[in-house]
Amino acid sequence: MANKEKSAGKVLQEKLFSQRKNGILKLDHSEVEKIDSFCEGYKRFLDNAKTEREAVSTAVNMAKDCGYSEYDPKKKYQSGDRVYYNNRGKSLILCVFGTEPMENGVKINAAHIDSPRLDLKQHPLYESSDLALLKTHYYGGIKKYQWATIPLALHGVIIKANGEKVDVCIGEDDSDPVFVVTDLLPHLAQEQSKRALPDVIKGEELNVLIGSRPFNDDEVSEKVKLSILSILFDKYGIVEDDFMSAELEVVPAFKAKDVGLDRGLVGAYGQDDRVCAYTALMAALECENPVSTCVTVLTDKEEIGSVGNTGLSSEYLKHFIYSIAEGAGTNCPTVLSHSTCLSADVSVAFDPTFPEVCESMNSSYCNYGVAMCKYTGSRGKGGCSDANAEFVAYVRSIFDSNGVIWQTSELGRVDLGGGGTVAAYVANLGIDVVDVGVPVLCMHAPFEVTAKLDVYMAYKGFSVYLKN
Ligand code: MN
Ligand code: MN
Repeated sequence: MANKEKSAGKVLQEKLFSQRKNGILKLDHSEVEKIDSFCEGYKRFLDNAKTEREAVSTAVNMAKDCGYSEYDPKKKYQSGDRVYYNNRGKSLILCVFGTEPMENGVKINAAHIDSPRLDLKQHPLYESSDLALLKTHYYGGIKKYQWATIPLALHGVIIKANGEKVDVCIGEDDSDPVFVVTDLLPHLAQEQSKRALPDVIKGEELNVLIGSRPFNDDEVSEKVKLSILSILFDKYGIVEDDFMSAELEVVPAFKAKDVGLDRGLVGAYGQDDRVCAYTALMAALECENPVSTCVTVLTDKEEIGSVGNTGLSSEYLKHFIYSIAEGAGTNCPTVLSHSTCLSADVSVAFDPTFPEVCESMNSSYCNYGVAMCKYTGSRGKGGCSDANAEFVAYVRSIFDSNGVIWQTSELGRVDLGGGGTVAAYVANLGIDVVDVGVPVLCMHAPFEVTAKLDVYMAYKGFSVYLKN
């Protein structure tokens, strides 16, 4: 039977209309298997890197295995050399030296490794009504009620007065206890249910239950607190005052899991932005003998405004690029002004349960690929860097010509809310930058969801960018 000829309108439509399609429909079975196996490594990374410090130490170990060594500003580097710079154990720069002169600029992938969580206060431990609890101050933008009645783990470091560092991780091993923020039973929540959403659980109600059994001695008060301090002393050799010089983070205790009967999604804590951190890291680890010098940044403090000397509004990235530029005998500002960057951060995935918060034509969707977001910001693009069309066109063309499945995204409908990324701080250095990352469902919740195809396409996108 002869093929029915396409109508003139149909032919014209195929030529002129944007053709959007679910990425799974564009791939064959073997490519989908590759995606799934890539995400097994991703899930392991998420389980091992629940804090910024753990992400740095995990990434450093992976980098060393791939021939990276610690950066030495006095050393002369050749093309193909691979180095890392560890900024206080909380942010990390990886660099592979390229073959072309550095004055042509460097290529940067920049993701963040801090995630919303509950931080312990400096005097956290107290006893009330025969229970021991920890006071917290939440970090980043959370819906506080989501952090009650889920199993929690305690991660972080305690630096004793003598400088000794104690690493803490309780709640991850199957034999470990976990902790919990309590909530009211519905039977007695009549007054609580009248509270506005941000106050359903209030900031000062995010108290973590850590113990219940009193120290058996009638001579002492605060017996439960004493017994908890005694357990901590036996385990870590710490006393109550050591909490004052600690960074202890309360995070969900559950592990990364496949979501859905078809296992197409990953559910886990901290995917914003460790999904882009892992994919950018993997792209850096396999990057060999690039033309441009390639710089991968895993930064801290994005969730609270990129502040502090481990966040990207500080000068540590600029100082590093100046240092490698000087090493190559190149004018530093020239290197910066010729550099480009993918700000590797997540975007909102369209959620069919809450369609009204997004404008459907410009939202990103699960399984439609890695998402490029030209602008973020709020109330008329306020506070964002709004990428140059020329740079967007360049990224678009290298993605298209290298089989990267990608889409665009916008952070919700106009005037609803908004947000920002590290892009604006990178742009402040005179660097061309655009946001590229994975769409996420339930962003900033204890259990965030991404599509495996999008995770893989982020990795492929970052990889293609470093090579082209
Ligand atoms: Mn983010
Ligand atoms: Mn975030």
